[in-house]
Amino acid sequence: MIKRITKKVIKEVMEVESEVIVCNICGKEINYDEKTLMGPVGRYYRIKTGHYDWCNDSCESIEYTDACCDECLSKFTQKWLKNENVIRSNTAYIEIHKESHTKKG
Ligand SMILES: [Zn+2]
Repeated sequence: MIKRITKKVIKEVMEVESEVIVCNICGKEINYDEKTLMGPVGRYYRIKTGHYDWCNDSCESIEYTDACCDECLSKFTQKWLKNENVIRSNTAYIEIHKESHTKKG
């Protein structure tokens, strides 16, 4: 009896998608200038805005905006302060979170 051994080569194709954070104000990729073992790390601001005017539905007012630098953050804040809905609201808020992101791929 002849044994036939079929060798199967299983090739795993790993698709690595390049994942980056793009600034919502200037449209540019954030600055990945910090080199780490995990990859280049970039720092940015995640801005959370919303209000409590809609009682239980107020969570629907939450919006996130990413800013790449102080200038973009300032631009967004100025615009937000002049927004009619914000001026009219008594409960509008803005939160600025410092974040970091590791570039993949
Ligand atoms: Zn920007």
